[in-house]
Amino acid sequence: RLEVRNLVRRFDGRTVVDDVSLTIEAGQVTCLLGPSGCGKSTTLRMIAGVDMQDQGTIHVDGKLICDTVFRIPPERRSIGLMFQDFALFPHLSVAENIAFGLKGAATARVDALLERVSLSGFGPKYPHELSGGEQQRVALARALAPSPRILLMDEPFSGLDERLRDGIRDDTLALLKEEGTAVLLVTHEPHEAMRMADEIALMRRGKIVQQGAPYNIYNAPVDREAAAFFSDIN
Ligand code: ATP
Ligand code: MG
Repeated sequence: RLEVRNLVRRFDGRTVVDDVSLTIEAGQVTCLLGPSGCGKSTTLRMIAGVDMQDQGTIHVDGKLICDTVFRIPPERRSIGLMFQDFALFPHLSVAENIAFGLKGAATARVDALLERVSLSGFGPKYPHELSGGEQQRVALARALAPSPRILLMDEPFSGLDERLRDGIRDDTLALLKEEGTAVLLVTHEPHEAMRMADEIALMRRGKIVQQGAPYNIYNAPVDREAAAFFSDIN
């Protein structure tokens, strides 16, 4: 369970994240949905611990991991990350990439994850030998390998072939549900949020303007701007 309370981030006197509060339960996918530049990635970076907020607190399973004076480093937050470009280590094999965040004998976990993402036998290969979709599955396996309580995903499908995306979204969602991870998924695509989210948090100019179940938000947008944002859904 991730609890973000009253997060504020300013850059050069401009408020980019403006009093954002979010709660994400284990086993649930929450989509942070909003147009380019509204502050989604900045919010994610503070939760990951690679940027620091000007105000607000972050708790994981009731434990404070960050406020404005106290800060647990990123690697000790039990928070996994997955970004748009997958960022696999090019000099490490697929198996070594997945084992990267694991301690000790990790072979069984690596093999199980490879099988789960339909990449059995790919362990000795290197990232440049894989297709985009295969790299995405390795990145997902790597992010889930240490069984993080929270997984943060920033536009994790945007680099993929449009025609394959929905299938990959569905496969990814199935694995996330099996693992029971609490997921915060950032996207600017309403269609993606509708397809994947248990809960949508609609963000605009640094603020969460509406939050709720996908169909409630789709059917009853908070204002004209939200309605317009959803109207070009594909
Ligand atoms: P996109 O969908 O395009 O990825 P986003 O919602 O993720 O957009 P952010 O990357 O969070 O948007 O950026 C929000 C705003 O904050 C933007 O106007 C951006 O220029 C600004 N910003 C982000 N990081 C910094 C920084 N380190 N210094 C100054 N301004 C920044
Ligand atoms: Mg972004």
